[in-house]
Amino acid sequence: MPSWKTVRDDFPALRQQVNGQPLVYLDNAATTQKPQVVIDALSHFYEHDNANVHRGLHALSMRATDDYEGARARVAKFINAAAPEEIVFTRGTTESINLVASSWADANLKPGDVILLTEMEHHSNLVPWQLAARRTGAVLRYVPVTGDDGRLDLTQLDRLLTREVKLFAFTHISNTLGTINPVAELCARARAVGAVSVVDAAQSSGHMPIDVRAMGCDFLAFSGHKMAGVTGIGVLYGRRHLLDTMPPWQGGGGMIAHVDFFESRWKPSPERFEAGTPNFADAYALGVACDYLDGLGREEIQRHDAGLAQLAYEKLSALPKIRLLGPPDGERGGLVSFALHDVHAHDVVTLADQDGIALRGGHHCNQPLMKKLGLTGTARASFYLYNTAAEVDALVASLQRIQKFFS
Ligand code: PMP
Repeated sequence: MPSWKTVRDDFPALRQQVNGQPLVYLDNAATTQKPQVVIDALSHFYEHDNANVHRGLHALSMRATDDYEGARARVAKFINAAAPEEIVFTRGTTESINLVASSWADANLKPGDVILLTEMEHHSNLVPWQLAARRTGAVLRYVPVTGDDGRLDLTQLDRLLTREVKLFAFTHISNTLGTINPVAELCARARAVGAVSVVDAAQSSGHMPIDVRAMGCDFLAFSGHKMAGVTGIGVLYGRRHLLDTMPPWQGGGGMIAHVDFFESRWKPSPERFEAGTPNFADAYALGVACDYLDGLGREEIQRHDAGLAQLAYEKLSALPKIRLLGPPDGERGGLVSFALHDVHAHDVVTLADQDGIALRGGHHCNQPLMKKLGLTGTARASFYLYNTAAEVDALVASLQRIQKFFS
């Protein structure tokens, strides 16, 4: 069991005051802070190993290549992929999903095919499918969200998940509701009708154990910056047999086996999907972030984050004039979304900032869901391994002050 108090010391950005108050950083669903080991790893890479990867025959290039491919193997282990070749490095979750929506969808969808999504998808797992539908003539369907309790209405699956569905994309943890979806069940249901499954793991990859083989997904996407890694690096996991049959989505150096003036042949995955100079330095630092999280234990991290979210949910429920979103019990990840009656979410965030508390307010890239729930936005507190119960109390005290100010 990690000592959460000393874990906090690993994060230099937390040692500061904001508006004269100790920083209470509760915006982890947007991006997490970075431990010193990850910051040091990035500096170390640039100070010692920096050179372009794969094509070089000199010492630094070989070292950089080992660092980059070592990170790929580390990430494969982190999510229990069958082989490093199933890991494609991207810029983040958004790019990973766009890769599937361009490459797989364009090659496999035809007019009348169905892409099944859920009403709780982040715009990153919605707009790429709208674009793919426009290009291929496929149509979109949505699994409804039940209401403020934020669950997927799985009673509708028999009706929605028909043989016409060729792809089912859904989030593991909702960034707005906090709901943890039953992903293994959803992947199995997709497979039963011959559809491929795409899991958006942006909110889960750094917060809980991920085992793609146990989950049974075909694709899984996540971002390094939301899991103690640096910005600009993300991952697409894809089953080998699918990646190997998919066409490239971008062309350039590194992804070709042979180029002629009028045609080219591609390398297998993952190089096929990594045109141009890849982001090897940030990939290396992501591998170090994986080590850091596994050193603490991802089950422990999940218990810690969900415990704080549950505490916050209970304490916020006791406030007057508040509307809380998402499931109240063990189906929730480490975040709480709420709306104060008569106070705009942006005002909540601005006033909380005066108390040194970093929240996020708005539609959280979930505009259709907000509209369905009749909200213009919510404020969101999202927790990570360095947050404390005292910070939950600071949040509650700040909200009480805000309510008093507006009363
Ligand atoms: N999906 C979910 C559920 C998210 O929370 C986010 C980030 N807010 C994304 C996708 C997009 O991630 P990124 O901006 O790192 O590509």
